[in-house]
Amino acid sequence: MSVRDIFSKLNCRLPEGQCGVTSPIDGAELARIAADTPQTLEQKISKAKTAQAKFSLLPRRAREAVLERLSAAIKAQRDALAQLIHLDGGKTEKESLTEADGSADILLKTIKDAQLPEFNGMLRVKERPPLGVVGLITSFNFPLVVANWTMAPALLAGNAVIWKPSEKTPLVALAYKAVFDRAMGEYADLLHIIIGGREIGEALVAHETIDMISATGSVAMGKGIKATLAKKKNNTAKSILELGGNNGVIISEHVSDGHVEFAVKSILSSFLGTTGQRCTNTRRVFIHKQWYDKAVALFTAAIEAMLAGGEAAWAEHGYGALIDADAFARFEKAKAEVIKDGGKIIRGARLLADKFPKAFYVEPALALLPAQMPIMHEETFAPLLYLVPYEGDIAQAVALVNAPDNAGLVGGIYTLSQKEADYFAYHNGAGHAVINSPKGTGTPAFGMGFGGNKASGEGEILNAVDPLRPFVRDDRFIRIAQNKDILLS
Ligand code: NAD
Repeated sequence: MSVRDIFSKLNCRLPEGQCGVTSPIDGAELARIAADTPQTLEQKISKAKTAQAKFSLLPRRAREAVLERLSAAIKAQRDALAQLIHLDGGKTEKESLTEADGSADILLKTIKDAQLPEFNGMLRVKERPPLGVVGLITSFNFPLVVANWTMAPALLAGNAVIWKPSEKTPLVALAYKAVFDRAMGEYADLLHIIIGGREIGEALVAHETIDMISATGSVAMGKGIKATLAKKKNNTAKSILELGGNNGVIISEHVSDGHVEFAVKSILSSFLGTTGQRCTNTRRVFIHKQWYDKAVALFTAAIEAMLAGGEAAWAEHGYGALIDADAFARFEKAKAEVIKDGGKIIRGARLLADKFPKAFYVEPALALLPAQMPIMHEETFAPLLYLVPYEGDIAQAVALVNAPDNAGLVGGIYTLSQKEADYFAYHNGAGHAVINSPKGTGTPAFGMGFGGNKASGEGEILNAVDPLRPFVRDDRFIRIAQNKDILLS
C-alpha cells in the first residue's frame, strides 16, 4: 500500500509542503509535507491548553474510558500504522507490527498499573493535579511506541501533549494523530504534532508555558535540551531524558561450553534487532580470554548463517535498512577507527548498493580489538559489535563495562557464579543489570521502570508501581476512597 493509500484509508490528508520524506527501504520519496513554524507551534500549544483545562476536570474513570477508546482505535488501525512504521522508519514488517500493538497495549497497561488495589472493601484512588502541557520529543528508531510510553501516563494524569517526532519519521506521527482525533472526539486537541527538526524542538523546549519535557534521543540531544531548560524562566518545568546507551556485556570465565553458546545467541538477538538502531542494543562484549576464540567463532558463524539465510533470516532477526546516509557514514567511520587501532573487522560490507543507491544496507560487523579503545566510548548507532578479550577478575570486567560515560542504560553478564552475578548487580553503573538474559541487553524488564544513569538519561518512565508520578504535581494530592459496593451513576 502506498503512503497516499494509507492516509486515505485513515481519512486524513497530509499537510502538503516542502519537507521531503524518504523511505530508508529504497530511498524513494514518500511525501512532501509542511513543517511547523514558531507561529503554528504557538497556536497548537494554545489549543492544547484549552483542551487540557477541560479534560483535567474529568474524573479518573472517565479519562480511563477515553484512553481505552484510543487503545481500541490503534488496534483497529494496527496494519496501517505498522505499514507506515515500516515505510517511514525502515523497520521490518514484524517489528513494525509489534510496535503498533505495543502502542495500544501500553495505554491499557498504564490504566491498570495506575489503579490502587482494593483495601478492606474500599476502592482507592490517589489523585494528584496534572502538570498541564507536556512537550514530547522522540527519536526515529521507535517512531510510535516510545511516544505512547509518555502519552499514556501523561494523558491519564490529565495533561495535554505536544509531540515533535523525529524529522526522519514524521508520517507515523501524522497518521497516529488521525487515529487519535477520531477516537478522542471532543478531546482531539489534547494532542498536537509539530513537524520539523532540532530548531522547532528547541522552540518547544524553550516555550515558557510548556510544563514538562519528555525527550528520547542521543546524548547530544539531552545536553542541548538541558541547556535550553536552564535558560527558561519557568524553571519548575520537569524533564525526563531517555538518551543513548552504549551497552556492555561480560562473558565471564565461569561459564560452560553450553553457556557460551547460550550467551552468544542471546547477545546476537540484542545486537541485530532494529539493525543495531536501538538504545538497548548490545554494543560491547568483554569475553574472558579463556572463551574468546570460541565466542568469536560462534558470533562469526551466526552472522554468516544469517547472511546466507537471505531476507527471511534477516527479518527473523529484525534486521533491515539503516535509517539514512549519515548512519552509514558513522558506521564506516567507526570501522575505519577499529582498523587504525590495530583491530580487525569481520563482515560489515555495504549491500544492495546497485539496486538501492539511495538506501543503506550493510552486513553486521564484528570488531575484534585487543583492548577497549576510545572509539568504543561512542555509541555508533549501527550494527557494529565490539568483541574484546579480558584477563583478571570480575571487578576488572565490570570496570570495562562501566568505563564510557554513556554506558548508563543496560549492562549484562553471562556467568554461572552467583558471587559474580551479585557483584555485577551491585557495581554495574547502568540503569538496568541483566544477568543471563535470553535477550541480551535488548529487553530489560520494562514494568519495573525504564531509565538511564550517567550520560544515558535522567528520570524514569514505565514504572508499574506509580506510572503517573512524573506527570503530576506531587506537592499536593488527594486520596479518594469509596465503598466499592455503592454504584454511582
Ligand atoms: P537525535 O538525538 O538525533 O534526535 C532525537 C530527537 O530530538 C529528534 O526529534 C530531533 O529533532 C530532536 N532534537 C535534537 N536535538 C534537539 C535539541 N537540542 N532540542 C530539542 N530537540 C532536539 O536521535 P535519533 O538519531 O533520532 O535517535 C537515536 C538516539 O536516540 C540514540 O542515541 C539512541 O540510543 C537514543 N534512544 C534512546 C532511547 C531510550 O529510551 N533511552 C530510546 C530510543 C532511542
